[in-house]
Amino acid sequence: MPSTPVAIVTGAYRGIGLETCRALAERGYAVVLTARREAAGRQAAEALRRDGHDIRYQPLDVTDASSIEHLARFIDETFGRLDVLVNNAGIFPDPTPGSGAASVFAVDAETLRAGFETNTIAPLRLCQTLIPLMRGEGRIVNVSSGMGQLSEMNGCCPGYRLSKTALNAVTRIFADELRGTGIKVNSVCPGWVRTEMGGPEAPRSPQEGARGILWAATLPADGPSGGFFRDGQPIPW
Ligand code: NDP
Repeated sequence: MPSTPVAIVTGAYRGIGLETCRALAERGYAVVLTARREAAGRQAAEALRRDGHDIRYQPLDVTDASSIEHLARFIDETFGRLDVLVNNAGIFPDPTPGSGAASVFAVDAETLRAGFETNTIAPLRLCQTLIPLMRGEGRIVNVSSGMGQLSEMNGCCPGYRLSKTALNAVTRIFADELRGTGIKVNSVCPGWVRTEMGGPEAPRSPQEGARGILWAATLPADGPSGGFFRDGQPIPW
């Protein structure tokens, strides 16, 4: 069994996921960069390997149960264990802001379904399938959003908001079931980040967005579980 800790990041060929891979590799993790776009995933992993990092690509469509099973088999056969899972892949299912359709009165079932499928159910399935490979010791980071905070007045994007609020509930419920083990599950908001999803006006770079994720992925044994954090600080749900 290798002594190098092993991390998986989903949706990781660009944006915050890519920078999370880099940050984990710089911390000495063997990183499995996953993406559903094979060519882009391979290219991203290759670029990071050229920088001297221990990174390999594996295909993963987070909404496809057989793709998740395939990844779990790969991890088990290659490493025999998993230390970190970063559920980063996400979509913004609502119509573009300002189009007038992004109201909870107008949101259609397809938008809701798409948001829940990728942002909530997929991380839940990944936890179900991959936590057994942690063998009682590991860290899970669910990349959530301030838009999922019910305590705040947030912009109207009901599909996204509901899916991330539900993701925070997934975090809390897994953490409850895992109490007493060495596995910690937390939600992290990366802040507003300049990515395809965040847009060019966002104040944070992807590297800055990845920082709080790295913090939660490398928590010490006495660190928190079941919380929601931004920049390593708890934020209201
Ligand atoms: P990007 O749009 O750049 O990245 C999203 C990633 O998710 C892409 O790689 C995308 O790949 C992938 N993805 C989507 N659906 C699937 C799928 N079914 N299977 C595999 N991969 C998939 O945005 P960010 O980097 O900003 O987003 C990363 C996370 O951060 C998301 O969960 C987002 O909600 C969250 N976040 C981002 C904020 C921001 O300001 N940017 C703020 C708060 C939270 P593909 O091209 O194949 O779709």
